[in-house]
Order: sequence, then structure tokens, then C-alpha cells
Amino acid sequence: MKPPATKLPTSRLIAGNWKMNGLKVSVAELDLLLAAAPPAGAELLLCPPATLVASFARRASASHVRIGAQDCHWAQSGAHTGDISAEMLADAGASHIIVGHSERRADHGETDSMVRRKAEAVARAGCIAILCVGESLEQRDSGQTLDVISRQLEGSVPTDSVPEGLVIAYEPVWAIGTGHTPTTAQVAEVHAAIAGRMGAGFRLLYGGSVKPSNAAELLAVPHVDGALVGGASLKAGDFLAIAGAAA
Ligand code: PEP
Repeated sequence: MKPPATKLPTSRLIAGNWKMNGLKVSVAELDLLLAAAPPAGAELLLCPPATLVASFARRASASHVRIGAQDCHWAQSGAHTGDISAEMLADAGASHIIVGHSERRADHGETDSMVRRKAEAVARAGCIAILCVGESLEQRDSGQTLDVISRQLEGSVPTDSVPEGLVIAYEPVWAIGTGHTPTTAQVAEVHAAIAGRMGAGFRLLYGGSVKPSNAAELLAVPHVDGALVGGASLKAGDFLAIAGAAA
């Protein structure tokens, strides 16, 4: 990895992943985020479904809330019916694009090499990739967690990645949407390993059942620079409470 060219922000990145939720009326939740005072020590990023990226980005322009997307194709354009390129999402106003979420790996058979090509596409489009890695419960129970994470990073992180263009999200598959979270010691172990593998400067998020009641302890773990939040990002009040825990 190259050393950081510029100093990265020290504030926490609190990113919301709305998954396949949200209609035009959901702009009311964005409006609540925009109306609230910017949280101290936290940057807010909201990743609504692709159908809402352009309108949300327009509404949030010049505000403290950035808008991202949840996936992209690796090609810039072409014969890929139904797909959306990173360039299209950048054109719609996305600042960040999530790649390699475990739901896409499971639902769409995405492999590490596909995720790598997507992360490269995100960089080409001038956006920041949030690249997700994480072990299944079976892998954790059989003591393979660090090997799995290392293999995923090896296979999916582009070799020329720089901290300004890539964020890593550690999301244990068994913690996503389940209400179960790893212990802070387990999070610390994995984040230290990722930090060691990536080198200085890369932002590392924790994701998996983050909510207002556990955000402060998870965000206090060494090498946790923010959170990727699914279910609890759908309600502005919960999302703001999580961001408030970053202070
Ligand atoms: C996610 O989808 O990235 C996620 C972490 O979901 P949840 O917060 O609902 O577990």
C-alpha cells in the first residue's frame, strides 16, 4: 500500500446502508439528518438504494451529509442490462460506493476478484470504496476468522489502493441484521490484524448490529474509525444517536 498523500480526517465515519429499503417519501429521514446539527467528531454518509442516490445527493449537496451507493458494476458502460457503473453513481452525486457486502457475496455470488474489480472501478470513477470483509459463524467457530479476513483482503483490495480512496469495513456475517455483536476483544483482534495488513492511514469501520445502545463501546475499540450501520440507519433518530456516540 502507498503511504497517505494527505492527512486523513480524524473524525469517525458513520455510514448508513439502507439496503433494499426506501421510497421517495423516505426523503423525510434524510431531511431529519439535514436539520440536525452536524455531530461532533463524526462524518455522516447515507447509502440509500440506487433509485434515490441522485435525488438525495441533490438535496444533501452543500450539507454535512454525504450520499453513497451500495454496489456498482466493474465496467464503465456497456451491455450489462440492469447494472449501474461507478461512473453513473459518481455522476448521480455518490461520494462513496460499498463493494463486497456479504449480502451481495451471498445473493449474487460475488467473489473476491469481482470485488477487487469493483473497487478498482470505484477509484477510476473518483469515488471512495467501502470494501466489506467478514467471516461466517462457522468460520469463526472453527478458528478461521483471521485467515478468512486475510484471504479476503488479499483477493479484493486493489494493489494501488490509497487511504484517500478506500475504507475497509469489518462485518462479521453472523452479526449482520441479527442483533448479535462480537465482543469488543474480538473486534479489537480483527481490526488490529486489518490495520497491520493495510498499513497506516486506512480507515476501518465496524459493521454488524450497531445500534444506539452499543455504538459507544464499539467505537471506542482501537482501530475502529467508524461504523457501517444497516437497520439502525433507517431511522434518523437512531442514526444520529450512533453518530453522537462518536464524540
Ligand atoms: C450492514 O448491512 O452493513 C449492516 C451492518 O447491517 P445491520 O446494522 O442491520 O446489522
